[in-house]
Amino acid sequence: MADQIRVLSEKLANMIAAGEVIERPASVVKELVENAIDAGGERISVEIKAGGKQLMRVMDDGGGMSREDAVLAFERHATSKIAGEDDLYRIGTFGFRGEALASIASVARVDLTTNTKGEAAGTRVRIDGGSAPKVTDAGRAPGTTVAVSQLFYNVPARRKFLRTTGTETRHVVSVVSSIAMAYPAIAFTLTVDGRDTLSLPAVSNTYTRAQAVMGNTLMNQMIPVTFDDDLVKIHGFISRPDAARVSRTHQHLYINLRPVSSRALNRAVFEGYGSILPKERFPVSIVFLNIDLDQVDVNVHPAKREVRFSDESMVYERLLRAIRLALQNSDVVPVFETDTPDISGMAPAAAPGGERAPELELDPAMARRSQIDLFGPARGNGGDPPGEWTYTPAGSEGGTRDEGEPGTVREHGDAEMVSLWQLHNAYILAQVKGGFMLIDQHAAHERVLFERALKTLGDESAPSRQLLFPVTLDLMAPQIALVREHFDHFARLGFNVKLFGEKTVVVDAVPCMASNQDVDTLFHRMIENLQEMPEKNLKMEERLALTFSGHAGIRKGDPLSQQEMNGLVNDLFATEMPYVTPRGRPTVVRMPLEEIERRFNRPS
Ligand code: ADP
Ligand code: MG
Repeated sequence: MADQIRVLSEKLANMIAAGEVIERPASVVKELVENAIDAGGERISVEIKAGGKQLMRVMDDGGGMSREDAVLAFERHATSKIAGEDDLYRIGTFGFRGEALASIASVARVDLTTNTKGEAAGTRVRIDGGSAPKVTDAGRAPGTTVAVSQLFYNVPARRKFLRTTGTETRHVVSVVSSIAMAYPAIAFTLTVDGRDTLSLPAVSNTYTRAQAVMGNTLMNQMIPVTFDDDLVKIHGFISRPDAARVSRTHQHLYINLRPVSSRALNRAVFEGYGSILPKERFPVSIVFLNIDLDQVDVNVHPAKREVRFSDESMVYERLLRAIRLALQNSDVVPVFETDTPDISGMAPAAAPGGERAPELELDPAMARRSQIDLFGPARGNGGDPPGEWTYTPAGSEGGTRDEGEPGTVREHGDAEMVSLWQLHNAYILAQVKGGFMLIDQHAAHERVLFERALKTLGDESAPSRQLLFPVTLDLMAPQIALVREHFDHFARLGFNVKLFGEKTVVVDAVPCMASNQDVDTLFHRMIENLQEMPEKNLKMEERLALTFSGHAGIRKGDPLSQQEMNGLVNDLFATEMPYVTPRGRPTVVRMPLEEIERRFNRPS
């Protein structure tokens, strides 16, 4: 057979490359804005018409190009950003492949003007669909403007795949917003069909920029994330659990200020929330990871949206930890305050250089310890270590005391406890550092019971309380099957269940931690919930713990004694996630002093 292989023309090769790099107008805008940032631009304006299908123009005040460079920039593999092989493993710029401009020029009409400092005449380069460049003089201040019109005019197959103007516009807005979020010091504007759509002045920090991009309402629902070790530095914002969204598309992830998508790292953010997100809800997150350049490979994908890590599991683990810490430390976790001076001796040592705001305390265990200590009996007790003490459920006849050994529970005079008030037999009012808080007693107990139930289902068995009068329940066949199937689980929780015949179960002992006295209802509810629970993706232990904690605890309307309230609050803040129920409802509402002062029209 005659020779058939030939080397493709430069023009054809560029069009093929364009197929990978340029998917839609937003891809062009992304490449041009990235070039503007790489060039050191401080003000970048983007303008599009008809979703970019008609025109995209990106203007910057960066370093610009000499005439020779401006022509060379359109050659394939022409770049000023890397020189040798070693550079490929330490990429600190957006660009490095040198193919964006060549690709764009092969599938659209491009008009570039540029000028550098100290050069008299600027340069204008025009290229139509990969044709030879036309170079002329052009007066302009230092910087570069690239106008791209009639995208895919010579690739009809591609043009057909473009979506409506509205859809393409949304993609452009999202690309510009996402890059702008990482560069608060650069001013961005975006004009869509002559209308100002984004107008982002230069600001000093990411939070302010994120407010401008995402809106105040959303940012007010976010909590900060920070983490720092040898491998990675993480900062950003994640939503409070109750602000989670129904779709996963609100996770913004940046590696070394480059927006990237990574299923694994999105997963880490999600997992970091543990069980506190409402079902089928996803967090909003804006998270920046900084990693040594040689630990990340950005040369994975032509559009540079994906990255590879030399050790992904380490990065995953750090991110997961950062999210957990952020949630545990968020300011909805209150810090208690009493007037007693000697309590300070029990609190964790303040950081050198003055008093550290407890809200900023980085170690949640420490923060919690200080809260527990404040409730502990050490003061005036001859310096005895604070005892473990358990919550006494309302109405249970001394039920809690049998949970620990005698002596681990101390008698507390009311004088030794923080004063708490119960409101409407439903909420507990407490003074906290910088304000006060209201605790929803039912929600709080739900969180406490959930974690206890999970623990007992996992390893140890929970103590039971024998019922004076065993309860007999008639169940339907599928329910009996459920009981049979989960016999062990019920036993570990502390239920003693016996089967009688085809339809009857007898419960003669219940978990000590349950305060609901109506065993009949509790058991029925649990069985029903287990039958119909939509949380199919949860492990059986989690489902059981969820239904148990939902029904076994203190209810709205239960009166609580001072000691019971102290016990509950103490237990709540010893949990992993004190401020939300396992289903993501808040357990605590905090009222900061500033807010109170504002309402009294006091200048603070
Ligand atoms: P890459 O960004 O990967 O280097 P591009 O094709 O996007 O490849 O750009 C090629 C070269 O053109 C860049 O390396 C840069 O030197 C120059 N260039 C492109 N856009 C600009 C700009 N806005 N300002 C200054 N130089 C630019
Ligand atoms: Mg580039």
